[in-house]
Amino acid sequence: MARKIEKSIEEWAKTLTPEQLRIARQKGTEPAFSGQFNGFKGDGSYVCVCCGETLFDSAHKYDSGSGWPSFYQPASDDVIDEESDTSFGMVRTEVMCDACGAHLGHVFPDGPKPTGQRFCINSASLDFVARESDK
Ligand code: FE
Repeated sequence: MARKIEKSIEEWAKTLTPEQLRIARQKGTEPAFSGQFNGFKGDGSYVCVCCGETLFDSAHKYDSGSGWPSFYQPASDDVIDEESDTSFGMVRTEVMCDACGAHLGHVFPDGPKPTGQRFCINSASLDFVARESDK
């Protein structure tokens, strides 16, 4: 864990919408099929809505049918923190932004090849940055 950014909830509230604050800073979940990036197919990277860290790449996004943006791997190995989550009577693995601790979603072992992992992520925890074209 290499937490670089520590802010109070009041400080985060200055730069996030109430929905982003509830999900990314208070471990909330957006309703399935409601998020802006669920069916989104842009070419680029997904960054932390809180701190801007690059977390996922559109090259690893796939349609899991779950209703949340799904990736089979993070943008790189060291950008995601994982922690056991036993809330709601389930044993799940929570995933967070390594830099600021933002709640992103969960990772499940039922993803596609080559990793077999499914990172199930809230759109509200992400921002999208389009890849620069080669022009
Ligand atoms: Fe972050």
